[in-house]
Formats: sequence, C-alpha cells, structure tokens
Amino acid sequence: MSTRAQQYDATVVAREQVTPHLVRLTLDVPGFVSTGIADEWVGLVVPGQFQSRYYTVRSIEGTQLVLDVVVHSTGLVTEWASGRSGDPVGQQVVLTEAKGSYLPPDDAGWLLLVGDLTALPAMTRIARENAVARPGRPVQVVAEVPDDSRIDGYFPADPTVSVTWLAPGPDGASRLAEVVETIAWPEGPGYFWMAGESAQMRAIRKHLMRVRRLPSTHYDVMGYWRSVAQRQPRAVDPGPIWRAGKAAGKSDEEIWADYDAAQAGAEE
Ligand SMILES: Cc1cc2nc3c(=O)[nH]c(=O)nc-3n(C[C@H](O)[C@H](O)[C@H](O)COP(=O)(O)OP(=O)(O)OC[C@H]3O[C@@H](n4cnc5c(N)ncnc54)[C@H](O)[C@@H]3O)c2cc1C
Repeated sequence: MSTRAQQYDATVVAREQVTPHLVRLTLDVPGFVSTGIADEWVGLVVPGQFQSRYYTVRSIEGTQLVLDVVVHSTGLVTEWASGRSGDPVGQQVVLTEAKGSYLPPDDAGWLLLVGDLTALPAMTRIARENAVARPGRPVQVVAEVPDDSRIDGYFPADPTVSVTWLAPGPDGASRLAEVVETIAWPEGPGYFWMAGESAQMRAIRKHLMRVRRLPSTHYDVMGYWRSVAQRQPRAVDPGPIWRAGKAAGKSDEEIWADYDAAQAGAEE
C-alpha cells in the first residue's frame, strides 16, 4: 500500500446495502489525513476508471473510512458500487485528498442542515461533531429522501438533534428549494448548511442572498450533483473555485456562477 502526493490507495473491506438507494462502503486507507472538517469529502476513482466522483467521509476509525454512496439509475460509481459488475469488496480504489467547507461562525447559536440522500453522510457527521464541539447547540435536519430510505438511527439520538424526513416531489425530483423558502427559521444568528441537486442549490443561494440577506459567513450551499440526461464526464470540485474566487475578491454570487459554469463545462 503506498501513499502518493495527495492521493491514497485504498482497499474496499466491506459493502452493505443500507437501503435500495444507499450502499455503505468501508475502505481501508492507510496514511489518510483528515481535514477535521465535518463535511469533508474525497474524490473516489473506481477500478478501470480515471475520472473521480466526490463522496463525503461519513466516519473515520483508525485507517477505515466509511462512505455512503447513493446508487441511482446509471453512473460510473453507481454501476460499480451497486455490485452489478462484481463485488467491490477486496478491490483497490484511489482516493484524492480530503477537503471540506463547513465553517460555522462563533456566534452561530443553531445549525440548520438541509439536503437530499447524497447529503445524509455530511449531515449526520456535522450533527455528531457539533455535539462535541458545541454541546447543546441545537441542530435541525431536513432530509429529502425516498420513503424506503428513511433510516432509523442514522442521526445521533440526542435531544438537541431534530430530524424531519421529507419525500421528493411526486415525479421523484427534488423540491428542496421550495421547502427552504417556506421553512420556519430559528431565532438569532445561526448557520445554514445545504447540499443536493445543483439547480435547487442555485435557487436557494439566490433566496439566501436576496430575500433572507444572510451574510456569506452564515451559510454554505453546495450543488452535489446535476440532474442531466447524459453521463457527467467529470466532477467539479467546489473547494478550489471557492478559494480562488475569495482570493480574487469576488462576491459569493460571482463565485457560485463560476462553479455553475465549471460544472456546465464539464458536461460538454
Ligand atoms: C462535495 C461533494 C460531496 C458528495 N458526497 C456524496 C456522498 O457522500 N454520497 C453520494 O452518494 N454522493 C455524494 N456526492 C454526489 C456524487 O458525487 C454525485 O451524485 C456523482 O455524480 C455520482 O456519481 P455516479 O458515477 O454515480 O454518476 P455520474 O456518472 O456522475 O452521473 C450519471 C447520471 O446520473 C445522474 N446523477 C448523478 N448523481 C445522481 C444522484 N445522486 N441521484 C440521481 N441522479 C444522479 C447524473 O445527472 C447523470 O445523468 C457528493 C458531491 C460533492 C460535490
């Protein structure tokens, strides 16, 4: 097992079908360096591929990392993780270095976490680590998942954590933007974190900036995947775009426009 610059060789040591839409993979990754950021993600390159897809590190114990992978109708990692082309257990994969973006400000008296199935691992890790970093700070979770993917015990059983499970729209499409626009927000300063389908996230960024007028330090909204007919040829990492935009003095709106443009370019 070798560790290359900013990449790790990893071995799949377990695979569990948690729900019809969610597969849990445990990877042995010697030398893995965590950012310590609760929504940290890695790029995953599966055998026979060179393109990566991003996955949140749900938990780390020793050298073992747990990823919860959504299996949808078709996709590069979906095919592999679903086991349709062979059991991933025992296979070697490559991970890119971890990055994260969750950064609640000191004055955040509450956390509001909203996301679809792809955001479940980040939301539970944030809730878990919040209980250690800021015991007692309330966490409100809104999880939009198909009915058969409401997982008992997925979130910490802590009186400060409240979870609302919602079904997607009747056509299966996400309606998280609409949900957030009508949500009852907690009082006082807090931190809003959201991830899921990109068009929904774009709508919410506009809402936060123009209607709620939240300072950019008090929210983090990331498009995790794009609902498009074709395969996504290449994933776009939001981290470097965010940092480059900030360094160039761009507004949040300009930075997210850059991210959207990069994602669109990756599909051409
Ligand atoms: C920072 C970050 C963290 C993420 N963390 C996670 C995570 O922990 N777990 C997780 O499952 N995903 C996570 N994602 C999302 C994941 O990277 C994408 O869903 C990815 O496109 C899936 O790859 P694939 O190879 O299965 O499908 P692709 O080959 O990328 O796409 C094939 C087709 O499937 C569609 N598609 C892609 N994703 C979905 C989806 N979720 N539902 C329905 N259709 C889809 C695309 O529109 C495309 O048409 C994260 C993304 C980011 C940016």
